[in-house]
This record gives sequence, structure tokens and C-alpha cells, in this order.
Amino acid sequence: MTPRTPTPIQSITVEPGQGAHGTLEAGQTLRIIDVQGQQVFDFSSFHRDDPTECCDLIYSLFVKEAWKLSAEDKLYTQRMRPLWTITADTCGVHEWTGGFCSHDFNRFLGHDQPGCKEVLEAELRLLGLSPQLLIPSSCLNPFMNMPHRSDGSWRVEPPVSQAGDYIELRAEMPVLWVGSVCTMPPPTNGLPLSSIRCEVYATE
Ligand SMILES: [Zn+2]
Repeated sequence: MTPRTPTPIQSITVEPGQGAHGTLEAGQTLRIIDVQGQQVFDFSSFHRDDPTECCDLIYSLFVKEAWKLSAEDKLYTQRMRPLWTITADTCGVHEWTGGFCSHDFNRFLGHDQPGCKEVLEAELRLLGLSPQLLIPSSCLNPFMNMPHRSDGSWRVEPPVSQAGDYIELRAEMPVLWVGSVCTMPPPTNGLPLSSIRCEVYATE
């Protein structure tokens, strides 16, 4: 793969509670930046030309035989084709097992507010796509900190991401993505809630 361009060809800043979407050609790179730190993003991605094929974190973790991924690892679709290669990760702590907050989940926790599910579904509608394409195993949670402990516990802790930390994904096929800046209260996110920036880099 030839080196990517030094400056982004596209940059989108997304505020808390807001969504965004985009597409990449194979070979282009998406950098997801935690602008101020301690902010979680909910991020689902699909094969642009057939969005019934989507990122599947469960299968991706099976391939790696691990519950977390890092630079050089691939994210696979449920059809076992590489969708992304992780090319950089300055934070190292993300939630890889899928899922998103939702109005139902927030209500269950005692907060009657929409969640990332509703935002991601709205982004799919903007693209003319069915919200039913959105499944939990497609959703990566950059900067979310939920360590799997050897005693079997698995609970949310504050993000460790610092201002400017990023994870970079190189598209291995044409990709369509939708994202939502999570508004869950601490410990999921730090306060104040802050923005996420998505930058796209071309292949030279
Ligand atoms: Zn969320």
C-alpha cells in the first residue's frame, strides 16, 4: 500500500449527541480523534456497495483470539472479508465487543434520553438506508474503557484517552460508516462531554 497523503482530504467534527457519516474508497484511511480526551464514539461500518455486509467485531475477535485489537489487526465483516486494517492507535484502550447505548438502555439505567442507537439509525436514514442494518456487533466504541477482568467482572471505567489521541483505520474495501458522539454520563465519558473529529486521508 502506498503512503497516504500528509493532510486530510476531509475533516468532520462531531459534537456530543450528534451523528455523522461518510464513505471511503479502498486504501483511504479514517482517523478518529478524541479532541479533548475521555470521549467515547459509537462507530458502525459497512461495505459501501452492499451494506448488508457490515463490520463484525465478534468474528474479528475470534480471528485474533483476543478480546481487544491493536495496530496491524484487521476488522472483518460477518462474511469474513477484511473491512479495515488498524494502522495506528495512540490510546490503546477501546471497547471491542460491540454494542451501543440506546433509549431503551438509558431508560433501563434511569436516564430517559435517546442514545447512540437512535443517532446511528438517523444517519442511516439520511443515507437512504434501513435502520435495521444497524446491529450491535457492527459497532466499535473507540476510547471506551471496559476491561475484562480475570475474576469475570466487566464494568465501565473512565476513558484513559488524552486530548488528541486517535485510532486509524485503513479501508480494505469501499466503506460506508456512521458515528455518534456518546452522551452517556460518567464513567462512560468524562465531563464535559466533548467532540470527536473524523479525518479521511487519501492514498497517494
Ligand atoms: Zn453511546
